[in-house]
This record gives sequence, C-alpha cells and structure tokens, in this order.
Amino acid sequence: MFPRELEARKEIVYFSHKVHAAGLVCATDGNLSIRLDQNHVLITPSSIRKEDMYVEAPIVINMNGEPVNDDRRPSTEHKVHLEAYQQRPDVMAVIHAHPPKAIAFTIAEAELDTCVLPEVVVTLGSVPVAPYAAPSTDELPASMRELIRHSDALMLARHGSVTVGPTLSDAFKKLEKLEHNAEILIYARILGGARGFTHDQLEELQALRDFYGIKTHSVACSTRRTQSPASSAATAGAGIGGIGGFVPARDDAACACAQPVGADRVTASPELQALVSEITTRVRSR
Ligand SMILES: [Zn+2]
Repeated sequence: MFPRELEARKEIVYFSHKVHAAGLVCATDGNLSIRLDQNHVLITPSSIRKEDMYVEAPIVINMNGEPVNDDRRPSTEHKVHLEAYQQRPDVMAVIHAHPPKAIAFTIAEAELDTCVLPEVVVTLGSVPVAPYAAPSTDELPASMRELIRHSDALMLARHGSVTVGPTLSDAFKKLEKLEHNAEILIYARILGGARGFTHDQLEELQALRDFYGIKTHSVACSTRRTQSPASSAATAGAGIGGIGGFVPARDDAACACAQPVGADRVTASPELQALVSEITTRVRSR
C-alpha cells in the first residue's frame, strides 16, 4: 500500500458521495482520482454509482492506465485524469463530472462566461471548452491537452467537466463554482442578459487574487468583458442558446460604452463584498 493510499481512498469515497448528492453526476458517470506518487494514481472504478462508492473500490493505476496488483479495470475515462497529471505536475487531484447546467452551455454553444461573479473571478478564473471528442477515445484527452496546461477547470463539449487542484476538496470546490456560475448565468440571461464588470471592478478582483496569492493556472477574465448596449438589445429576446453578447473591453474606451452593473447587484455574498472593499483599500495603500 502506498503511504497515503488509505487516506486517499477515504477522501475519494467522501467526495464521490458529495458529487452525487450535489447532482453533478448521473448513474455511474464521472470519476475522481488522487495522485499517490509520481507514477501512480488512485481512481474510481467503472460501473459503480458515486453514491455507492466504498473504501476498497478505487483502483491504483500507473501512468499508462494499467491496474497495479488488481484484476479490475478502471473507467475508460482514466485517460482524462492521466492527461491532467501528465500536463500538470502540480495537480494532485482530478474530478471529471457531468454538471448538467454547464454541459448545457456547450450543447447550446452559448458562452460560459466566468467573468460575472466576483467569487468566480477570484477563485476559478476562465473555463475554456475543449472541442467535442467521443468518450473513451484517445481524441478526448488530446482535446483538452493544451487547455489543462492553463486552466484548473474546463469543459469537454457535450460531455462534462474537468477540475483539478492540490486536493480533491479544491477540485470539488471548483466544480461547484463552475456549475453554480452556469446556473446563475442561465437565470441572468432569461432575465435579459448577463452584464460584465467595469474595468475598475475587474481591477479590484485581480488585486484580490494577487493579494491572496491564488495560484490557479486560469487567468481571471483574460479577456475583460463588458456588455455593450447594442449587444444587450440584440440578445435580450434571443433565448439562452442565442446569446453571445459580450464584447472585449481591454481599454478605457471600450469600458466607457459598457453598461456596468453595480457591485451591490452582482456580489452574491455581503461578506465577500465587504472583504473586497477592505482588501482593495489595503492593496491600493501599499
Ligand atoms: Zn464522462
């Protein structure tokens, strides 16, 4: 047994149950894994519902996907996990899930904008979408190869999500944020459109990331986005799938034509809003 294996098995069971309870997988979908050492990964097996996961169930595989001292076979989606570990030496845990609302964005080809909620900008960053590839094929890990190098969370088109981190808890938190962001975006677009931050609001959030030393590989709002009046009007009645609507606002001129939404309307948590004000003041005074 590997040094951390028992602890890793318990963590996988715990978070398997949480992923199922949160509605982020269906039936036997999805997989969770933890890196045991440089050459071995502990991963959930195929054909077991995540709500039924138990400590003995996860399988140790090597970096070729071969089971170690085990006759059972891992899920064919182990390739997605191994791709993440191979591309990112810093990653110690991976969750592949099927979050329904975030997947719906990839099916509708609607932009899954992660630049509208302060918590998401600070803690998650951008979420790219890998082009469609059939499950279980070698094309699937290849589709995310470049993206995972720069993002801690990504979507596989028409399929699911991949979130990574130093722990399973961290990967699960990013998965929750990803799906919650998708749900709020759907509501906002039903109500007429998701408006972006102003340039100054984004600067505040970027400062927060810097202040806390947040190490996600994702660049928060790499293309700063605000929504122009024209695009807002054009998309107001277009339905969720028809909404593109966001225009980049990299300079002040672009920001000036935006219709910003006040921080009091987009900040989900009063505590975070107070924190943003406090930290921004401290950062600016340094
Ligand atoms: Zn899957």
